[in-house]
Amino acid sequence: MIFRLCCLFAGLTAVAAPAAETAAERFAAIRREASPAELYALLWALPKGGDLHNHLGGAGWPEVWWAIATDPQRNGGQVFYARTRFANAGTSGLNWRGRNLDHMLGVTIRGSSYDKLPAGVKAEFKALRDFTAEEKAAWMSGVVLDQPGEGRDEFFEFTWARLNELILDAHTVPELLVENMKRFGAEGLRYLEFQAPAFGMQDQNGKVLPPEEMAKRYEARLAQPDAVATGVTVRFLSTVLRFAPIAEAEIGRTYAFLDAHRDRWVGINMAGREDNDKGFPRRFLETYRAMRRQYPGIGISIHAGEVDEPNAHVRDTLLLGATRIGHGVNLITDPDTMLLMRANRFLVEINLVSNQLLEYTPDVTVHPFPEYLRFGIPVCLNTDDRGMWHSNMTDEYYTAVRTFALTWDETVSLGRASLEYAFLPAPVKAKLLAEYEAAVAAFAAKMLGADWRKTLETVKAEPSPYAKRTWKM
Ligand SMILES: [Zn+2]
Repeated sequence: MIFRLCCLFAGLTAVAAPAAETAAERFAAIRREASPAELYALLWALPKGGDLHNHLGGAGWPEVWWAIATDPQRNGGQVFYARTRFANAGTSGLNWRGRNLDHMLGVTIRGSSYDKLPAGVKAEFKALRDFTAEEKAAWMSGVVLDQPGEGRDEFFEFTWARLNELILDAHTVPELLVENMKRFGAEGLRYLEFQAPAFGMQDQNGKVLPPEEMAKRYEARLAQPDAVATGVTVRFLSTVLRFAPIAEAEIGRTYAFLDAHRDRWVGINMAGREDNDKGFPRRFLETYRAMRRQYPGIGISIHAGEVDEPNAHVRDTLLLGATRIGHGVNLITDPDTMLLMRANRFLVEINLVSNQLLEYTPDVTVHPFPEYLRFGIPVCLNTDDRGMWHSNMTDEYYTAVRTFALTWDETVSLGRASLEYAFLPAPVKAKLLAEYEAAVAAFAAKMLGADWRKTLETVKAEPSPYAKRTWKM
């Protein structure tokens, strides 16, 4: 009603500039009245700030991986192979983090690894470029959670293992980086803070490269015109696998690497399934304290509370020095830590699609995100491993806005928080924030007018396969 009176007033007095609350009211009206496709288009066009929780190795849609793996121009002239059948011809010797892969179809390897296989085993593999349409479809489905019943175990134990040498490859991963800059840029993101692999990456002969060499390769790819043209600012975190027996030593070498590459590498993260309690946060307390004695100013964002049972992992992770918590799903079960984080300097990196597909909140309508947001705990939206969900950032916004009736101010606050909590030097952050506010104002002026429905027709939104299968976009 207030909105209608405003319009009437504006019409009578020919005042063109909309009142401040007009954008909020129009957004609420669109949220109520728009079709799913219209709301998706609106949120596709919305400026979205940054993505702070994004594993580069998990950010490749199957078709993107396929394109890179089968294009010698983009993968350093390599041919990639995958296992298509079993003939009981012997063992391949292939493993993923020490686990034998001889029971799994779809495991992908590079040509130099294929050349070393025993002759009989070779016959169980086929070059991707020679796959039939059916084999290609099976391979693509194998690296995404697209089937009923595929959830946490499929993701942690099989999906990554199938991609195998594709995500350890020093040619393919920088290519995937730039592909993501283009795709995220198209849906209104201006900052990406990737958890990018630096350690253990391999050249085309399977030789492990020093992290310095890998850092150079990322820089070389980022300097190419197509990467620069995206206008997207990129920084990296280096992530340690938390339950590894040598995780403490890995934190040490990671800090040394970060300290030597501060322009691009801005922080450390720790990941790995938390229901494997060998990686419990308190284990690392002395290690992080030792690091702080040595190194100033390294950002710390750590996965915590990505479990569906109560524990003190979020609180203990803050004690490690983290200022950002990845997921924080079970923070809702820890009232003292919720109070500690309220209106404080700590942010929770929310991943709605991930938490749903990995069964941490199978019913997204009871996700704690809106409680954190409205209780006053800083939050932003992130895509986590969007390649394996076949999703994008618009899917996160669409889920949030539609499920929890977000207001305009709440929606805009998410992108703002993603930049405020970025591990960036103050001048870069200030510039990105100013650009974000200007882009949001321009969006409101253009998209939240009385003719919003007509304006939305001009938006060329690209619903993700996740959106298509989930909401029939
Ligand atoms: Zn994650």
